Amino acid sequence: LRILLVGSGGREHALAWKLGQSPLVDVIYTIPGNGGTALVPRVENVSNVPPDDFPALLAFAREHAINLVVPGPEVPLVAGIGSFFRAAGIRCFGPTKAAAQMEGSKTFAKDFMARHNIPTAKYRNFNDYEKARQYLDSIAYNVVLKASGLAAGKGVILPSSKEEAQKALREIMMTKEFGSAGDEVVIEEYLEGEELSFLTFSDGHTIKSLPPAQDHKQIYDNDKGPNTGGMGAYAPTRVATPQLIEEIHRTVLQPTIDGMRKERYPFVGLLFTGFMITKEGPRTLEYNVRFGDPETQTLLPLMDGDLADVMIACTEGCLDAVTFGAYSMFSATVVASAGGYPGPYVRGDSINLDTPPADTHIFHAGTKAPTGLEAQNGGQRFQKPLHLQGAHVHISANIGSSNTLTTSGGRGIAATSTGNSLEAAISQAYIGMSTINFANMHFRRDIGKRSLGSESK
Ligand code: ATP
Repeated sequence: LRILLVGSGGREHALAWKLGQSPLVDVIYTIPGNGGTALVPRVENVSNVPPDDFPALLAFAREHAINLVVPGPEVPLVAGIGSFFRAAGIRCFGPTKAAAQMEGSKTFAKDFMARHNIPTAKYRNFNDYEKARQYLDSIAYNVVLKASGLAAGKGVILPSSKEEAQKALREIMMTKEFGSAGDEVVIEEYLEGEELSFLTFSDGHTIKSLPPAQDHKQIYDNDKGPNTGGMGAYAPTRVATPQLIEEIHRTVLQPTIDGMRKERYPFVGLLFTGFMITKEGPRTLEYNVRFGDPETQTLLPLMDGDLADVMIACTEGCLDAVTFGAYSMFSATVVASAGGYPGPYVRGDSINLDTPPADTHIFHAGTKAPTGLEAQNGGQRFQKPLHLQGAHVHISANIGSSNTLTTSGGRGIAATSTGNSLEAAISQAYIGMSTINFANMHFRRDIGKRSLGSESK
């Protein structure tokens, strides 16, 4: 297989790492990739093809005989990269533009859930500010406001009073804080409970999920401070009992895949479904039409199977014929962010990496490869350090003198560890974190704490 992987986050590093282990894979081009993907055997970063320019990606794909495209982030999927490559006759692990609306439009997803009796928070959709304002005034329950379109995880507002709710509504619909993403708004009931994420492969009929994970969205310990892309995750979690997993597959995941197929936009790819586990049972919060970040970094090290084989099976409609499971282990990911994130932050700080402990993966996100590890248009193979040319790569120290690898994004780099207990995985991940160092780095000290029920580390 010759794979084109689009994206530059920790999710894409984890995907490249897992795909790179498959005997089916000859080469993976990451466009643009990051400092971590540059170091994975058989992976080449391509820096001179714009990742949002579909014709340029197609020209690259043709030139390099790509036969599997894997888009990582939601933006190209919602813009139609899945449909674009299918139309060009190149296999794509990811939904069509029509199916990607499940993430691209929250009003669309909520109406879909209503049509298919999928348990979710009660809601109303609005495209008219005055009607939305009156509705907000008329209701008694606590609400959540959601800009319908993509807003990089920032378009969901949890107001603590009616006044705050009205202010947020004005910001979304009138002052257009999130641009056209706020043309429509979902006003939904505020739910209490624990959150749970499912990553589910589908070929349009069959579904197979990885173990459910929990993540940590807020920047500070004890879920304080603003929301981020995700500061850590762990799996499996005590909330996800076998009965709950069965119920979610029966009442949400299979009906979703069946409903999409019946409405003629079958889902092929990885469906991420976010839940609130309330006292009344699981309620669907959202669909994402791609791997989650950082859940992917947590879950792929637990996946017992060939990711490339599973992706191909999804694109060929034969996922039922592929068996894969999860190692009976636990996994935890701790994310290090740049000081200031999710507000303004500094880029370009040197990152020092020491050798991580056993069973630990250092997944890069906002890092920039040392010069010389970038391939121009995938044309030349660069020389990876010898110790990184083996099959099982733990990105390690020797690449990391301070003037080589640098920060280039808010969520810089993460440590994922597996272990025989959640406690072991978490403490190992923190030892992994101690091998990473850059100026003003920040990470949460309480990843997984709520599942252990103990005090923070
Ligand atoms: P993501 O960054 O995961 O893509 P998003 O912007 O697509 O997020 P949601 O996942 O729908 O939006 O919501 C973001 C967060 O807001 C959820 O993880 C959850 O913590 C909170 N949230 C969303 N809906 C509700 C609700 N009805 N009740 C309580 N909290 C909610």
